[in-house]
Amino acid sequence: MTVRTRFAPSPTGYLHIGGVRTAIFNWALARRFGGQFVLRIDDTDVERHREEALEPILAGLRWLGLHWDEGPGVDGPHGPYYQSQRLEVYREFAERLRSRGRAYPCFCTPEEIERERQEARQAKRPYRYSGRCRALPTQEQQRRIEAGMPYVLRLKVEPDRVIRFVDVVLGPVERNTNDIGDVVLVRANGMPLYNFATVVDDASMQITHVIRAQEHLTNTFVQLLLYEAFDITPPQFAHVPYVAAPGSKAKLSKRHLERYQTEENVARFLKLGFKPEEVPSPVMLDYYIHLGYLPDAVLNGLARLGWSLDDRTEKIPRQVLIENFSLERIHKSPASFDPDKLYWLQGEYMRELPLEQKVAGTIPFLQRAGLVGDPVDESTRSLIRRVIEALGDRMKVFTDVIVYGGFFFKDEVDYDPKAVQKVLLKEHVPVVLARLRERLAGLEPFDAAHIEEVVRGLAEELGVGAGKVIHPLRVATSGQTIGPGVFELVEILGKERALQRLERALALVQQEDA
Ligand code: GLU
Repeated sequence: MTVRTRFAPSPTGYLHIGGVRTAIFNWALARRFGGQFVLRIDDTDVERHREEALEPILAGLRWLGLHWDEGPGVDGPHGPYYQSQRLEVYREFAERLRSRGRAYPCFCTPEEIERERQEARQAKRPYRYSGRCRALPTQEQQRRIEAGMPYVLRLKVEPDRVIRFVDVVLGPVERNTNDIGDVVLVRANGMPLYNFATVVDDASMQITHVIRAQEHLTNTFVQLLLYEAFDITPPQFAHVPYVAAPGSKAKLSKRHLERYQTEENVARFLKLGFKPEEVPSPVMLDYYIHLGYLPDAVLNGLARLGWSLDDRTEKIPRQVLIENFSLERIHKSPASFDPDKLYWLQGEYMRELPLEQKVAGTIPFLQRAGLVGDPVDESTRSLIRRVIEALGDRMKVFTDVIVYGGFFFKDEVDYDPKAVQKVLLKEHVPVVLARLRERLAGLEPFDAAHIEEVVRGLAEELGVGAGKVIHPLRVATSGQTIGPGVFELVEILGKERALQRLERALALVQQEDA
């Protein structure tokens, strides 16, 4: 048997961390057993903007390297892979159920259904359709259909049966059909409902393992009834617990991660050209993509949400994940998503990334921030390389190059008002800057070691700690208090630009003085 799994997102415009994790599990199982990973789009409910709402999802999966063997843009023998293009298939399967006497048209109006619901509410019992239309004779059904009466298609569900199955993650589970009733399969407008479309597709796409969120568990019993009605062997089911908030059992939502959306992070998105209202939340994959995380780190971090190699190992590279993935090691209880842990993991992956790959990965971010052109010429590329080298392990994500080193790529420094206030507007600073300018002008060779000598010599001469020279030099040449080591910073800037900037800073402090 070839393992065939599927991920079936609705076009919602973005990928939620929990959804990504489900996709990863499906993909990993298919890869583990040399099977196929199918991407199917559940878009029967979506009326407008289908493409727009789907594109970020496809882009996210591609970014993670979760390439699908069949699905949008990849032909396969079981297409089309958009539910909205499969209405003919659903019609056929619906017909099959009717001809087997397993489904029937129901003409009850929404008002009648609402009345039944209210009665149930008043009697404090769960609502279940009364089954009124089930007993209509075939001729009467036909008459009403011909008269143009709207109807939905319902599944005939025998009352008081217990449906049981063994979930790969949860173990044995069961549900009484009294809690299900004759569910609607197809709406009056001909659109299939989730359970029906899902079974038709999973069956016709020969899916062997359905791995999905635990919130679908109650649906699975309905789906099993449908498999039975079609006389098709159902796939295996693995229901994955929800992803919980950091340090909590609550289901993860946007609100839980607000504190990770720092001003500093938001500023990064704005530098990349995002409008404030477009900045993604940390529950969305886009957040990590645009901050400049590495796909391998995110894949690893999210795969670890509820799955483990041995309960201890955090760093599990893609290949190790593929070689070891198994549904049996998915935990029964919800795993907490901790953005700090993901950030740490990201730092580990970034540290190991070869320099040239760091350079290549950084370029698109610098381009989006308007700091370098497209294409990047050789001298700019070598500047990027030097900046990245100087940042060393301080660089955790690609946008760090913009935040810590954006000033290397600009002609004019943007002086951070806070840094100016805190560091430059101090009594000793004009003298420090003036002397630095003088000494650095004559310095040869202009490299980090010699720049350091000048700085330390000057501090001694002035009888102040080195910091009193280092901090003003940093702010004067970069406009900010964070960045690579200051001696490397000044070396990379080069004499000419360093002197120009000292000049400007000097003018700035003298102006304030006056
Ligand atoms: N479109 C459904 C969802 O996103 C798919 C559920 C399933 O995998 O069956 O929840």
